[in-house]
Amino acid sequence: LFVTFEGGEGAGKSTQIRLLADALRARGLTVLMTREPGGSKGAEAVRHVLLSGAAEPYGIRMEAILFAAARSDHVEQVIRPALAAGSVVLCDRFMDSSRVYQGVTGNLEQPFIEALERVAINGVVPDCTIIFDLPASVGLERARKRAGGPGEQPDRFEKEELQTHEKRREAFLDIAAREPLRCRVIDATKAQDTIAAEVLAIVEPLLPV
Ligand code: C5P
Repeated sequence: LFVTFEGGEGAGKSTQIRLLADALRARGLTVLMTREPGGSKGAEAVRHVLLSGAAEPYGIRMEAILFAAARSDHVEQVIRPALAAGSVVLCDRFMDSSRVYQGVTGNLEQPFIEALERVAINGVVPDCTIIFDLPASVGLERARKRAGGPGEQPDRFEKEELQTHEKRREAFLDIAAREPLRCRVIDATKAQDTIAAEVLAIVEPLLPV
């Protein structure tokens, strides 16, 4: 079972992935928690280039290809083998982040994004994608607080303005509306334990018996 988690900054994805992993492990399931960009040795190397802004001078097209290169390595080295071994794979961001960040707010043409997606995922489509939805202002405020905490720097993406974040929110909701069988939307302004229960309720019927 392959579940991906998507949404804007400060939506609480990583906390919820951890809570879900704990709940599934308590049931005796083998769970792999992973994230993008990164999740494999090669992809983590590319993550550093992307999040530090080192690729920025070379343009969004270059960045999109690097995201795809990282995803391809992550899929082939980590995700596909884990799924084949029967693990439940929980991934923090996946192809929908590329559609939204590079495609919609990066203004890259759709055929280009689609071609990269096809090559990168190579048939490994999420069984379920949980989209954490919240107003951009709320997410940004949360992300800022987190970044102000000990030892964390805000990454360059989190410095972008509200309007862009609101556009991304709409884009994620758009994907959910177009692919209702794969995608589920969660109101990420709710209390943490309420969200955790909702996430579990979505995933539970999909679990291997
Ligand atoms: O929110 P998260 O901790 O997953 O941060 C990863 C960062 O990488 C995000 O701030 C997001 O802006 C960026 N990203 C991106 N395109 C992707 C995936 C992530 O711009 N395809």
